[in-house]
Amino acid sequence: MGRSFLLARIAGIKILLHWTFLLLLGFIVFSEIRRGGDAPAVLATVGFVVALFGCVVLHELGHSLTARRYGIKTHHITLLPIGGVASLERIPENPRQELWVALAGPAVNVVIALALYPFITSFAPFSESGIGNFATSQGFLHSLFRVNVALVVFNAIPAFPMDGGRVLRALLAMRLGRVRATTIAAGLGKLIAVGFVFFGLFNSPFLVLIGIFVYFGAHSENVAVQHVDLLHGYTVRQAMMTNFVTLAPTDTVQVAADKLLSGSDQDLIVVENERAVGVMTRLLIIESLRANRAAVPVAEVMSREFETVDIGAGLSGVYDHAQRTLNAFYPVLENQRFRGVIDQNNIDEFLKIRAALAQ
Ligand SMILES: [Zn+2]
Repeated sequence: MGRSFLLARIAGIKILLHWTFLLLLGFIVFSEIRRGGDAPAVLATVGFVVALFGCVVLHELGHSLTARRYGIKTHHITLLPIGGVASLERIPENPRQELWVALAGPAVNVVIALALYPFITSFAPFSESGIGNFATSQGFLHSLFRVNVALVVFNAIPAFPMDGGRVLRALLAMRLGRVRATTIAAGLGKLIAVGFVFFGLFNSPFLVLIGIFVYFGAHSENVAVQHVDLLHGYTVRQAMMTNFVTLAPTDTVQVAADKLLSGSDQDLIVVENERAVGVMTRLLIIESLRANRAAVPVAEVMSREFETVDIGAGLSGVYDHAQRTLNAFYPVLENQRFRGVIDQNNIDEFLKIRAALAQ
């Protein structure tokens, strides 16, 4: 996704600004100047965009703070040119909770619109009321009002994983179960997304982006839900690798490099007295070789911070965790003793086998 800047921290949640947002601001300033806008006009327009995205942040906080009530943390809220994204730790599996979390975002915009309502003196069409002229307080507030109404209307479209689509999924899940509900909601979401792209091609490049975003979001979330369902009832013991290469703490980096080359393992576990004490990743091995540390024992360079999983842990939980981790890789423990390894490839293989058997 690239770089983001930390804008603020609200209620303990980091608000990030994606760098492409600066492109949007630049574009807006550029087009305002081209239209012949003077400095106050440009400033007013930038101010309006900032106010608009302030409303977007509040919308996302609506989702986040409602999720928090159900014990779900938010990693951060990112502002992109096409809107905001709250990265929740997980989506509530309880449909009633998902429903409230989904509704809370647009509800914030309803409240903002209601708060702005008394300041709006005329509902004349855009051209007459001077909307778009952000330099007047009337134009500014009226435009902000309309934008909040538009956010509510847009989010009511049942294009999963947009808010309306989540509401639909939650409602369907109450009757059909989460797996069927997600298949239906994601199917509809993809269909609408294609519509966004086609309509956007002739009208708005932002809608094209949103369409692409929705399409892939629907696809990946549906796949994840189907996978978690396939893994349901299985434990780590049934999928872990028991055939793997280990290192002793006294082995040198050179030994680690040889073992890396001779096998297909990407990360090697350092084992001492049947306990996993460290991990030598491929990157660590290569960096150590580059730093001329081939003769150094791995105990001095290995990473001691790694996550482990219990042999009896449910596979769907591990899958869920691995989805949010780059190159997921976990030593498997049984009564604190090292018994095997489970990684993303493992889980993927297990899934392929389950899917083949399920057909
Ligand atoms: Zn939302």
